[in-house]
Amino acid sequence: MSDGTPIILTADRTLMSNYVGGMFLGFSSCVPAGFIPPYFYFKIFCPPVDVSREGAAVLAPYGTRKIEAALLEYGFDEKDVMVVSPEHLSRALGPDTKVVGITETDPMGIGPATTTFRGLFGGYPQMAWMFLQLLLRIRLSKYKPKIIVGGPGAWQLEEEYNRKVLGIESVVIGEGEIVVPPLFEKVVKGKNIPGVVYGDPVPEEKIPLIRRPGVCGLVEIARGCGRGCKFCTPTLKSFRCQPLDYILKEVEINVRFGNPYILLHAEDILRYKAKGIKINRGEVLKLFQTVSSHPGVKSVEISHFALSSIAAAPDLVEGISHILELDSKNWLSGQTGLETGSIRMINQHMLGKCKPFKPEEWPDVVAQAFRVLNENHWVPVSTLILGLPHETEKDIFDTLHLIRELRSFKSMIVPLFFVAMGTLGKEKSFTLNDMKAAHTELLLECWEHNLNWLPELVNEYRGIKSPLRRKVLSLITGFASLFARQIFQICREDYENNIQSFINDYNTGKVRKGLLRFTKLFDRFQRLRKESK
Ligand code: SF4
Repeated sequence: MSDGTPIILTADRTLMSNYVGGMFLGFSSCVPAGFIPPYFYFKIFCPPVDVSREGAAVLAPYGTRKIEAALLEYGFDEKDVMVVSPEHLSRALGPDTKVVGITETDPMGIGPATTTFRGLFGGYPQMAWMFLQLLLRIRLSKYKPKIIVGGPGAWQLEEEYNRKVLGIESVVIGEGEIVVPPLFEKVVKGKNIPGVVYGDPVPEEKIPLIRRPGVCGLVEIARGCGRGCKFCTPTLKSFRCQPLDYILKEVEINVRFGNPYILLHAEDILRYKAKGIKINRGEVLKLFQTVSSHPGVKSVEISHFALSSIAAAPDLVEGISHILELDSKNWLSGQTGLETGSIRMINQHMLGKCKPFKPEEWPDVVAQAFRVLNENHWVPVSTLILGLPHETEKDIFDTLHLIRELRSFKSMIVPLFFVAMGTLGKEKSFTLNDMKAAHTELLLECWEHNLNWLPELVNEYRGIKSPLRRKVLSLITGFASLFARQIFQICREDYENNIQSFINDYNTGKVRKGLLRFTKLFDRFQRLRKESK
């Protein structure tokens, strides 16, 4: 029997997945546990990462890989640090294990997406549930290593009470590459450590290269944002870019470990090597050209972009599409913040978001960006915030008006509840009880928009490589679409958008009349499917 690895790095089971190559399926970890039957969920949406013969995870969250690299550069030996997925934890745990470091994005299930799904559907978020199971697994082991949590969701564990109840020794809030290695060293040497450690932005030259691949082939090209939206996490204030040769080394690591699908990550991919807000077209094109033509690379995806950058540089979008040889069936997707259609809300909470445009131009900037994106075969997955502080009914209707304008553009628009964080941390988070009829209408409008596009998107999404998985996902989304449309109709017609009453009646089984209507529709759907065969 092994004596265990002194330092184990892991993450909850929802983060230890490649999401069948479709990073945006990761949103599914925010829905309540059990909402999708667990067998299906962990088989179809979120299969586990492969493991090596020794039990180490072949892929792991990119943040975990950065911490692994930082520990090794600090001087820890390769054999003393192991990245494992939760199912294989027992292979690494032993009497010599001193510390388990966990990467988390939403450990308490209070991030914007989980808060929204939880508010609407009840239950406990999948990711938070898996985090609890992971903690339990570690705490029930007889070796009792110290537990340290970091990652984008570590702020949720800042309160001492939460840490004590969960048995967490310390949390690292902010960037971890500089502060984590000495912290782990103290634990290994049996010294006391503080309950909370804050990590400042790490200068780009001190961010170590990953040693092994991250999930979804992620490679960070820039860190931070600098646009300064008040509701955003403060760690994104400082904007830094990595040099191209550094990026290529990480691309090469992915390729070498059999991961040829690269996902370039930045808060706004178009601002690579930008001078402030001014886009550096030459450097961005060079980046895409060089990465996509790197030997072994099969595809290049992106994580995020800003709509204002898209509207400011349509020629650059066209240039990237040309390099990546995009077309109507081979499109590129990325996440972006639409947030609001209200000029007043832009002025109050996110002045930097629209730059180089003026706040008054924001609705036109959004519409213009959606047009440019669709013309160049990019599909935006946009988030929108319900219940920003001091929002009026007019602000909601301004947003509703903008969403209706976007109907013809292939895209997803995901409405999320406002969560008090960043410089708005003292404001009240938005909840289901705060929803007015106008909010409900906006929420339904967004989801109708999504349902219109979802079947086509699932069918075409190149991130999902397996035809069988694509078929199963298509069936699930088709079924869910029919169900959701019926639900929307009942909420509008029978409840006049009083979503609280609707959910209450739904949960107590009083929406039976509507469900019978749904059953008839389902029969029709089955008939249509048979006829189309
Ligand atoms: S643009 Fe996005 S990443 Fe940048 S500060 Fe605003 S919300 Fe944060």
